[in-house]
Amino acid sequence: MQPHEISYLLDEAEHWVAVNRQAAKHDDRLAGLTQINAFFENSTRTLLSFEIAGKRLGADVVNMHAAQSSVKKGETLIDTAITLNAMRSDVIVIRHGSSGAVALIADKVDCPVLNAGDGRHEHPTQALLDALTIRRHKGSIAGLTVAICGDVLHSRVARSNILALTALAAEVRVVGPATLIPDAIEAMGAARFTDMDEGISGADVVMMLRLQNERMDGAFVPSPREYHALYGLTYERLKRAKPDALVMHPGPMNRGVEIASNVADDVNRSVIAEQVEMGVAVGGLQHERRPYHRKRGPRRSRQRHPDWQSFCFQGPDCREGS
Ligand code: ASP
Repeated sequence: MQPHEISYLLDEAEHWVAVNRQAAKHDDRLAGLTQINAFFENSTRTLLSFEIAGKRLGADVVNMHAAQSSVKKGETLIDTAITLNAMRSDVIVIRHGSSGAVALIADKVDCPVLNAGDGRHEHPTQALLDALTIRRHKGSIAGLTVAICGDVLHSRVARSNILALTALAAEVRVVGPATLIPDAIEAMGAARFTDMDEGISGADVVMMLRLQNERMDGAFVPSPREYHALYGLTYERLKRAKPDALVMHPGPMNRGVEIASNVADDVNRSVIAEQVEMGVAVGGLQHERRPYHRKRGPRRSRQRHPDWQSFCFQGPDCREGS
């Protein structure tokens, strides 16, 4: 996605921030349309953001939880996609534990598909809400130093943020133990630091990531306690960043592991709760451009906007460059 397109979406999201702060929050521009949220992985923030935003936009919102679906009876992902398609949904929001699964489903259905997180690949709406949060505090993103710290290897949040923030001309650093930083991260435009004090030194934004134990096959860190000692964000360590550095975390947090509780709860430094609010505002963007929209009727080639592919709101191309 081009910087001006990201900026456009952030500007539009401001409208939804204002709407969400009103007493009456309804805007019926998706009235009569059906939105299916198909979540094959657990979620609190993302699922609720899409559900609340869809309802505020007037859509009929239905949630499909994989744990209670026929997926548990052995149904394949493609059969599930064909089933959702037959129900004539107008938009499908998908979270899946496998990288590329959203692209696979997008290829099988006739309606727009939004990526609510696929494996360790991408989490585009998280990157938008993070950029919105940063921009609201710092005025602009260009020229800021953003340190993304922790389990970068398993993090789709890190990948989407690197793409979005570098596109907006921020200097992005990834910080963590060598075992948790992908080999080719520099190719995405981020600088690598394995020393936390050095990595957050002079940063405008310190974005902490959770240790994604559910994606780990074996031990990547000696122990949570040692990890906290070397990479946990404490007040002492935060002094290395700029005095007005923002502390961010996409949630869910592991308090006392990647972040100390007093730092996470410091309303003068931490914008973690505000990130959640911005997530609902970004959910309001789902009526915006439909990059992979295919009209009802016989399958035909979808209207694709090439610039969306790098941001990966879905589509086969999102498997590239990850
Ligand atoms: N909630 C984020 C995600 O779904 C981050 C995390 O789970 O640690 O990727």
